[in-house]
Amino acid sequence: MYDFVVIKYSEIGTKGKNRKIFESKLMNNIVLQLDHKVNAKKIYGRIIVLPKDDEKINKNMLNSLKKVFGIKSISPAIEVEKNYEDIKSKIIKLIREKGINTGTFKVEARRTDKSFPIRSFDLNKNLGADILEEFPNLSVDVHNPDYLIRVEIRHEISFVYFENIECFAGYPVGSGGKASIMLSGGIDSPVAAWMMMKRGMKLNAISFYSPPSNDEKTIMKLIELSKKLSEFYPFKFYHYIIPFTKVQLVIKDLNVESYSLILQRRSMLRIASKLAKHTNSQALITGENLGQVASQTLENMIAISEATNMLILRPLLGFEKLEIVNKSQEIGTYDISIWPYKDSCVAFLPKNPATKSYSDKLKKYEERINNLEGLENEALNRGLVYVIKNGKVIESYIFSDKEVIE
Ligand code: ATP
Ligand code: MG
Repeated sequence: MYDFVVIKYSEIGTKGKNRKIFESKLMNNIVLQLDHKVNAKKIYGRIIVLPKDDEKINKNMLNSLKKVFGIKSISPAIEVEKNYEDIKSKIIKLIREKGINTGTFKVEARRTDKSFPIRSFDLNKNLGADILEEFPNLSVDVHNPDYLIRVEIRHEISFVYFENIECFAGYPVGSGGKASIMLSGGIDSPVAAWMMMKRGMKLNAISFYSPPSNDEKTIMKLIELSKKLSEFYPFKFYHYIIPFTKVQLVIKDLNVESYSLILQRRSMLRIASKLAKHTNSQALITGENLGQVASQTLENMIAISEATNMLILRPLLGFEKLEIVNKSQEIGTYDISIWPYKDSCVAFLPKNPATKSYSDKLKKYEERINNLEGLENEALNRGLVYVIKNGKVIESYIFSDKEVIE
């Protein structure tokens, strides 16, 4: 039915040279996220997405487009020739194909190509009259129409469309630096990942698990989460899954139960910072949320942060739990997050996590552990690496088996 999809994007804050970069990144990401099934072309202020030869504009394609960050709205459109008869007959055909026979409409024409002889005002009026004649059960409502029929007469190309499907907006992935998301199997961290991707960040994920308890299912759950996230991501998504049991056991042996959760978190951050050096990640992201659980007090966040000098981003810090849950349902991670398999932290959760803990004390505990750094290095080297693209695992290997890591 449709010839191409018209993409609108927000230009706010992107002027001059930045705007060119924004547009070319967005076009590139559209092609990558749609697996090269389309071409993207820029016309003034819009991007046109054209399906390649054997491809069709269908629900799947529109759903994939909706997940490209940087897009404000999408409109499946039909190309028209620059003559009144063609515009009219294509609109009539479209109304028929969409099975519209009752309700109200309004025509809204926009003529940027002034060599086209009919002014927008007259196009609206004449097309409105001709549509009414063809479909006597329809009526015009200029304030709140059921169907807004848009016509754009542009220099490069002219088209008509009915729908304006709102998308997530944000910035094209790859325009905002690179970070690592500390991805647990919970509800929060996948949402945190999504939020930062939406701001244009490139991401990889790092998760800690505790073999041999439930590991196959835990890994499967973590991979399902990153598959979901990869649908919003134009590049290969790298997920590092680190066996954490040995570190957890030496922390447990310290017999300082109330500090063990924070000591574990510090160790996770050190390992993640080490990995970041290999992957050129500039910051770490967590799903932490102030005061949501006892371990996420400000004192504890300070104590945890002091384990690394990397910047830690906490995009969910000020959110209500319900807002996070709603978001996770919207992006499709919620149903996976509620699977029962536990990542490493829950399995070893101390009964009373310390709510006031001080780094000196924590450092002393860490010094008591024989070769903690060695254990952390070993954990990283034994990490499993999954490479995910457009919802599929395309490669997996052990961290230490590859020399160059992305
Ligand atoms: P989530 O829903 O993301 O698990 P939460 O509210 O349950 O968050 P915690 O379990 O205390 O909170 O974890 C706080 C943050 O620490 C997580 O959002 C995540 O970023 C990080 N984190 C915790 N456990 C792990 C893990 N096993 N692997 C990777 N990151 C983790
Ligand atoms: Mg959790």
